[in-house]
Amino acid sequence: MTDSIFSKIIRNEISSHKIYEDDFVIAILDIGPLSEGHTLVIPKEPAATMDELSDGHAAALGRVLPRIARAIKKVTGAESYNILQNNGADAGQAVEHVHFHIIPRFVDRGEIVEGKPDKENGPGLRTTWKPGTLTQEEAVELGKHIKRLL
Ligand code: 5GP
Repeated sequence: MTDSIFSKIIRNEISSHKIYEDDFVIAILDIGPLSEGHTLVIPKEPAATMDELSDGHAAALGRVLPRIARAIKKVTGAESYNILQNNGADAGQAVEHVHFHIIPRFVDRGEIVEGKPDKENGPGLRTTWKPGTLTQEEAVELGKHIKRLL
């Protein structure tokens, strides 16, 4: 795969605000934050999407995500946050290198704490869920095929 901007950041060829690093993972402040403290947690392995990631790097991500989330909550005062992870262009992935967004939520404060918060038009995460339905038969059929591959 091609070298992503995150690989260049991992190799320190491009500057970033790195808040965490170990042998497998870095965490940096997002350059276009949706809210104060918006952080990207990135495996050093250059996998484009989660399904391409090795077990070792996946485990390393799982190990540090709670710790980084705790630190961000404490520093920003956020009580809520989203962990978001996009895979593929249709899912909104812009950088083809696995990354987890940790996005603190300050909905009642217009998301951005410093600067000029604007509840309607300012920066922030806006998600819309429109749930569908799943019948018993569909669930059994779909589940059977997925389970076979795991
Ligand atoms: P995606 O849409 O791929 O899930 O999110 C990519 C994220 O990477 C965006 O939130 C964007 O602001 C962030 N980003 C892109 N380039 C850079 C960069 O050079 N430095 C940092 N710190 N963040 C970046």
